[in-house]
Amino acid sequence: MAAWSDNIRVVEPYVPGEQPKDSDVIKLNTNENPYGPSPRVRNIMQDVESLRLYPDPTASVLVNELAKYHGVDPSQVFVGVGSDDVLAMSFLTFFNSDKPILFPDITYSFYDVWAELFKIPYERSALDENFRLVKEDYYRENGGIVFPNPNAPTGIYEDIINVEEIIRHNQDSIVIVDEAYIDFGGESALGLIDKYDNLVVVRTFSKSRSMAGLRIGYAISNPVLIKALNDVKYSYNSYTMNLPSLIMGTESVKDDEYFRNTVAKVVATRTRFVEAIRQLGFICLHSSANFVFATHESIPAKDIFEAAKKAHIYVRYFDKPRIDNYLRISIGTDEEMDAFTDFLKKYVQSYNN
Ligand code: PMP
Repeated sequence: MAAWSDNIRVVEPYVPGEQPKDSDVIKLNTNENPYGPSPRVRNIMQDVESLRLYPDPTASVLVNELAKYHGVDPSQVFVGVGSDDVLAMSFLTFFNSDKPILFPDITYSFYDVWAELFKIPYERSALDENFRLVKEDYYRENGGIVFPNPNAPTGIYEDIINVEEIIRHNQDSIVIVDEAYIDFGGESALGLIDKYDNLVVVRTFSKSRSMAGLRIGYAISNPVLIKALNDVKYSYNSYTMNLPSLIMGTESVKDDEYFRNTVAKVVATRTRFVEAIRQLGFICLHSSANFVFATHESIPAKDIFEAAKKAHIYVRYFDKPRIDNYLRISIGTDEEMDAFTDFLKKYVQSYNN
């Protein structure tokens, strides 16, 4: 082996859910939203000529709209290429201690990948037997804390009182609350931004705004932490946000009615679907997200996952300790969930015979 091989960064990458090429698939595996973006977003890119220019590096049109929407100052908003980019930038900016950062053992599987990539020491605290966060596990020395609320892939929402307790006990480190799914249930930590200078809340347009394909995420915090994030961003790539993202993202934020209606539809379908599969012997964790995490009383999750895939229905299966008998099922339209329920009904029946 040549000497340069010692200098190559070796990482085990995050594995995203499959994006099948076939169009005849019912796709319930990557927590997308079935309803598409607001009609305001459609046909908005008439002025293609403007693509010859670099976009505004400060992304001000989108930053200002988000600031208005959340009732904060624009200096409190940072935007990035999906919340993955915002989270990665946040790890790079805020987690530079020799002490380990902390996150749950069962959580978004990108956190340990970024920690490895950026050589950040980390420790995972086990969720309890009901997959709940144990807040006391985060009351110890650390170099930072990150967790999603609601959690993924469990969908479980942690009460804002406990979230605040974790932030309050850790005022010497940055706490990132990843709210990718908060619009589908639960109270946001945004209300705590003015009270704690160590809090960063991260959001995405990929789920509740149905714009996963555009890649928009953002962080809200105090101006000091947002400036730190921007300084790192400008040291890496000034133009992370392309012009279509800025324009379409802004239009989406302006259409609150569409946003609320489609979120309500997803939540109603979730309730309906959970009830339907309970009848078939599934146990679902209480979900506050646009997916459910379900296990069957007798049939292994892996078998169901593989059979569903053969029937062109994609859900997500994680071959990992503690969760290898669960399926994560994104909430699609009522029709899609009915088709999946019909499949499950037949599958459970044939399995038992
Ligand atoms: N956080 C969590 C908890 C997620 O499940 C996801 C979706 N994979 C993300 C962040 C990233 O989403 P995006 O980059 O599309 O904003």
